[in-house]
Amino acid sequence: MVKKDIDWSSIGFGYIRTDYRYSRIWKDGKWEEGGLTDKSEVTISECAGVLQYAQTGFEGLKVYETKNGDIVAFRPDLNAQRLQSTCRRLVMPEISTEDFISALDELVRANLAYVPPFGSGATLYIRPFIYGCGPVIGVAPSPSYEFRMFCTPVGPYFKGGVRPIRIMLSDFDRAAPHGTGDIKAGLNYAMSLYAGEMAHKAGYNENMYLDAATRTYVEETGGANFIFVTRDGRKVVTPKSDSILPSITRRSLMVVARDYLGLEVEERPVRFDEVEDFAEVGLCGTAAVISPVGLIHTKEKDILVPSGMEEMGPVLTKLRETITGIQMGEIEGPAGWVHRIC
Ligand SMILES: *Cc1c(COP(=O)(O)O)cnc(C)c1O
Repeated sequence: MVKKDIDWSSIGFGYIRTDYRYSRIWKDGKWEEGGLTDKSEVTISECAGVLQYAQTGFEGLKVYETKNGDIVAFRPDLNAQRLQSTCRRLVMPEISTEDFISALDELVRANLAYVPPFGSGATLYIRPFIYGCGPVIGVAPSPSYEFRMFCTPVGPYFKGGVRPIRIMLSDFDRAAPHGTGDIKAGLNYAMSLYAGEMAHKAGYNENMYLDAATRTYVEETGGANFIFVTRDGRKVVTPKSDSILPSITRRSLMVVARDYLGLEVEERPVRFDEVEDFAEVGLCGTAAVISPVGLIHTKEKDILVPSGMEEMGPVLTKLRETITGIQMGEIEGPAGWVHRIC
């Protein structure tokens, strides 16, 4: 396969148009046959449910070239399931796991020239989404939907080495109890933009959100879950809450911590006032896998994480190496984690 002439190490996390995307329409109560198209623009009603009432949900996953040249995706069945739960909550038709994965396979095989080579640090980012494209003027579910999946090559998340980030305890809330925090809905991101701008203007990379009801417990950032490592380096703790988005990276890391590194793992409510007791703090998500946090700013004080601002702590480093080793086919993963596309 002749790869596109792209400088893989210098591309960032942005949209690069590729040759094909997958599209499938739902109307008159059923999914039509889907397929690839080279049209990267969509034309919809000015009154579409997505435009008027934000009826849309999305997913994000990565496709890699492994050491032996296979093209693989990491646990795409979990992305399919999470999209199904987003669809149920937003009253949109669901795509079966089987159809989701065959769309992924078709999309990637048609865009093989854009899969960054093994070792480049770059990956092919996949963006599946479903939105209401039919007209609604009263508040109601849209009469029709498009399921679409495109891909774009993205560069290494950390150029020139992993660097700890600085985050800020936000005055805003991300998700209400019994709200939509546990689904990947566009609306959760729309309302996070303002708080995100405030954090960036103040000189921080991300917002840290607490539970909206009591402002006592740690939830997550705008787009990543937290994991914490205890001072003895033996236990990985992650917050438990119904309003956190269930990160596939975080769920996988907890399994890796327990089964590959022999660490204790705990998913439980984590009080904000406990955070100072941990030795390492990490953010997990598909984009960076793990970003180390070096500093947490609050109005009262700055919490300096013991692992510091220079490098990622030892336990998070080991976790990151192990999971990326599994993703890249250098370490044998649990059954079913690595989906081979070709
Ligand atoms: C997508 C997302 C994550 C990370 O989930 P992954 O499946 O690991 O990519 C975490 N938090 C929020 C709010 C998200 O939208």
